[in-house]
Amino acid sequence: MSDPAELRTRVLEWYDEHARDLPWREPSASPWAVLVSEFMLQQTPVARVLPVYEQWLSAWPRPADLAAVPTGAAVRAWGRLGYPRRALRLHAAATAIVERHAGEVPPAYEDLIALPGVGDYTAAAVASFAFGRRHVVLDTNVRRVVARTVSGVEFPSAAVTRAERYLATSLLPDEPREAAAWAVGSMELGAVVCVAAAPRCSTCPVADLCAWRAAGYPAYDGPARRGQSYDGTDRQCRGRLLGVLRESAEPVHRSSLEAAWPAADQRQRCLDWLVTDGLVAPVGEDAFALP
Ligand code: SF4
Repeated sequence: MSDPAELRTRVLEWYDEHARDLPWREPSASPWAVLVSEFMLQQTPVARVLPVYEQWLSAWPRPADLAAVPTGAAVRAWGRLGYPRRALRLHAAATAIVERHAGEVPPAYEDLIALPGVGDYTAAAVASFAFGRRHVVLDTNVRRVVARTVSGVEFPSAAVTRAERYLATSLLPDEPREAAAWAVGSMELGAVVCVAAAPRCSTCPVADLCAWRAAGYPAYDGPARRGQSYDGTDRQCRGRLLGVLRESAEPVHRSSLEAAWPAADQRQRCLDWLVTDGLVAPVGEDAFALP
């Protein structure tokens, strides 16, 4: 295994010089702003998150501001970020922060992970990025960087294994601030240099330490990786239906939803899903609205 200290030093120096200027990384970003960004960045690229993030924080600069509005306002403001259940979960997290923590995002991992919609990654990321605490932060970018540089394979396994967590823990600097910097630095390296499809090894600060490169880039031989197809899926249908409701301040008649997605069975299935999930509320027999 390449020298972990050298790997960390290189990544930290590279990050100092090349980190993208993102609002949730500003020293002035509040823990709430970091939490909001982490909810939005799950499964959505930075460029699409930025405008929604800005609007969201200007409307609801504190958890109490979001907790005070109906869930439908959160779903509407979520816009086209996708996976809109995240809007409901963020609203529920804001409510829990008000009820359990007097409106302040708690710094401890244990309190964070107890919030609705917050899993291991988000709890570790917020504790680390907002509060400078020492945690293993394992997102897809960090996992890919560690898999390539240290384990010598192109991609990590589908789910985090015990061995992978052990390895990531062994790489974590002891000093909390440095650990937090390593977390965000290795994540950034995976996001902009060691990308999934075509890594930019010629500009990589750890190219000479990279085990996958040294081994001659052996091809990935694990289970098939999940595709990104979207067209015609239930997810696209639900997004289309929610989009119609978002555009309207009034309840929308069923016929407008039929026009938005002609395939009747799929439309009904997706509408039922949205209603069950609390993202859409029926209004009378034939109309629907945001909750
Ligand atoms: S050398 Fe290439 S594969 Fe290895 S860490 Fe750098 S970008 Fe990734």
